[in-house]
Amino acid sequence: MTTSRAGASRAAMDELISLAKRRGFVFPSSGIYGGINGFWDFGPLGVEVKNNLKKLWWDHMVRFRSDVVGVDTSIIAHPQTWVSSGHVKSFSDPLVDCKVCKGRFRADHIDSLPCPNKPSLTVQACAKEGKGEGELTDIRQFNLMFQTHVGAVQDVSSVAYLRPETCQSIFTQFKNIQGVSRQKIPFGIAQIGKSFRNEVTPRNFIFRSREFEQMEMEFFIKPEDSESQKWYEYWIDQRYQWFLSLGVQKNKLRLRPHAPDELAHYAKGCTDIEYEFPFGVSELEGIAQRSNYDLTQHIQGSGKDLSYFDEATKEKFVPAVIETSLGVDRTFLTVFCDAYAEDEVDGEKRAILRFHPQVAPIQVAILPLSKKLKEGAIKIEEDLRRYFRSDYDEAGSIGKRYRRQDEVGTPYCVTYDFESLENQSVTVRERDTTQQERVSLDQLKNYLSDKMQA
Ligand code: ATP
Repeated sequence: MTTSRAGASRAAMDELISLAKRRGFVFPSSGIYGGINGFWDFGPLGVEVKNNLKKLWWDHMVRFRSDVVGVDTSIIAHPQTWVSSGHVKSFSDPLVDCKVCKGRFRADHIDSLPCPNKPSLTVQACAKEGKGEGELTDIRQFNLMFQTHVGAVQDVSSVAYLRPETCQSIFTQFKNIQGVSRQKIPFGIAQIGKSFRNEVTPRNFIFRSREFEQMEMEFFIKPEDSESQKWYEYWIDQRYQWFLSLGVQKNKLRLRPHAPDELAHYAKGCTDIEYEFPFGVSELEGIAQRSNYDLTQHIQGSGKDLSYFDEATKEKFVPAVIETSLGVDRTFLTVFCDAYAEDEVDGEKRAILRFHPQVAPIQVAILPLSKKLKEGAIKIEEDLRRYFRSDYDEAGSIGKRYRRQDEVGTPYCVTYDFESLENQSVTVRERDTTQQERVSLDQLKNYLSDKMQA
């Protein structure tokens, strides 16, 4: 059996997008109307993977720790939130228009974006080669926040914003959450939720969308602890290890510390966890040492006291934070790209998703060898579904059914055959090796549990 992981190529990306649509992971949003750029719908298998990733993140960051608590805050917040945070003034991207093709581009992406009229050239190259650099307009700033109006009257006083990140409400609720959870510094507050950015050029499938989900955590520490880098390094390691625990290939992950001139003036450090996507190495998650800038901004904007009183030392201070910020959709894309492989089984080419069993949308499929064996196979599926994400499939040859399950990443297939009727045993086939083992029915649940934990 020969195996090759998806190479770093556009073709690989096209194949992945086609698989995602064909097997119901991700569809373009409102496709019957021609779609809407930057918006995506997750289908039956996609939503399972997404939910698994969110649960695995929540377990790792909140449930299995005693020093991080969770919240779920509203998408629309008081508009002053975004004034204090600096988003109204400066959450913008540099924008240029091409006077020829009328395309609108992020100015810092024109040397990698293809020209809509001449896709063989980048926007930059096209402007230079065509009628001269003057074809692009001057750069201007474009605020990425979506605006809406709250209430029946639509005027400047009713303007509100769809949040462009989930973490600001963690800061505005800091005092409430710290009080009710009786957490002592150092501790963290985590949240999973939708964010919206009116991206100038949404692209690379779900990598850069206009509506997406984030998994963010703010870990509050004493300001002097931000000098030592201890917590910053701790969280970089925790987050890196989490991707490895999902089975993501180590050689495709990178840690990229930001250069001093990339850092915001208040930040003491920022490291991106990057992944080698088929379209290039790009940011997956950011871990930032943000000083106490955010809380200080909200103290100034609201006039409320958001400081922390340390009972032990009788000190009062505004905590600094370490932020970890990750997109659910980008994590989905990572595990999807990372799991995709093509190999050959018995001289036949197969497409396979080597999902980690905890990430796979279906963990075990029950396949009767013949429709005559339906009854017993259905009973097994009904038993197993209480413990695993399971599927039942009786349509087509057994080989075809194995391929179907391989293509959606099901790690185990259980075949119920005529021998099963006689000796209460089944064949379990392992996705990656295609090896088969005979397992007694009364051992099946434990056998699968052990395999999936391994
Ligand atoms: P960029 O510079 O690429 O626009 P950013 O550095 O502003 O992104 P952050 O604000 O740090 O991004 O966002 C934190 C995380 O949220 C990112 O690492 C990514 O996983 C996710 N994310 C941000 N923007 C998008 C988007 N438009 N689509 C999908 N995920 C996103």
